[in-house]
Amino acid sequence: MAGEPQADCVFCKIVSGDIPATVVRRTDRTLTFRDINPQAPTHLLVIPRVHHPNAAELAAAEPGIAAELLVEAGAAAGDDGLESYRLIFNTGADAGQTVFHAHVHVLGGKPLTEGLV
Ligand code: 5GP
Repeated sequence: MAGEPQADCVFCKIVSGDIPATVVRRTDRTLTFRDINPQAPTHLLVIPRVHHPNAAELAAAEPGIAAELLVEAGAAAGDDGLESYRLIFNTGADAGQTVFHAHVHVLGGKPLTEGLV
């Protein structure tokens, strides 16, 4: 059921503490941690504690939490001293989504001016 923890979801396991992560920020509804395979000096993931398969479905079901992801993304970038950063929502396997629990990537700490793909 939407919103319920999924047994096979790596991010649900990070939320429950079953898989460790370098958590940098927590709210009642979100968690922010460092990506295990960073693509930039700062590479964070902001996720809702509830399970939804992607950001659009999260926003449709829980708009307040979706907005909070963006607030937390900006705050986490600020915590890392970033004024410029990129937010990415991969949606669907062909777009590169590999974990089907809503999340936003926060990337920065190097110039990201080469284009989007
Ligand atoms: P996606 O490709 O779905 O947009 O992003 C999923 C991200 O999750 C990838 O960048 C991947 O490196 C990261 N990731 C996958 N498994 C883990 C994990 O167990 N811990 C952490 N911290 N990141 C993970």
